[in-house]
Amino acid sequence: MQGNRWMPAVFRDDPAPTPERSRLMSRVKGRNTTPELAVRRLLWSMGYRFRLHRKDLPGTPDIAFMGRRKAVFVHGCFWHRHGGCRKSSTPKTRIAFWEAKFKDNVERDHRKFRELEGMGWQHLVVWECEVGDQDRLKDKLSNFLAPSAATPSSDRAEDL
Ligand SMILES: [Zn+2]
Repeated sequence: MQGNRWMPAVFRDDPAPTPERSRLMSRVKGRNTTPELAVRRLLWSMGYRFRLHRKDLPGTPDIAFMGRRKAVFVHGCFWHRHGGCRKSSTPKTRIAFWEAKFKDNVERDHRKFRELEGMGWQHLVVWECEVGDQDRLKDKLSNFLAPSAATPSSDRAEDL
């Protein structure tokens, strides 16, 4: 089914919950995925240094800039529902099941983002479909990481 080709293969034919599927779905937030590694490589080549998967931060951001108080999440378009993206199609069967699952994921993301904001952190979502265009992604990351007018210049130091 064309619309489902971005889904992990184990879900493609019948998305009914089985122990294996439940296990997969309970860890929607994959670590060290290919898009995540690509973003980390790019940031490294741009001269940035950062921390990975800090559990003491809400949502365990994929990439955290401790001194800047900025976090980057690399999100899969399907699981995190990238609006208008062709990779975030909804499966054609068990629609209510999938919609409930997606709603949970999106709500959890937003809750974690609000918690981060409450701690004075900014966040940026990089969608997996954006990783292919490295020039554009580079701009997006530089803009996000550049010190804002409200940020003291001492924040430029990398205190990892
Ligand atoms: Zn996308």
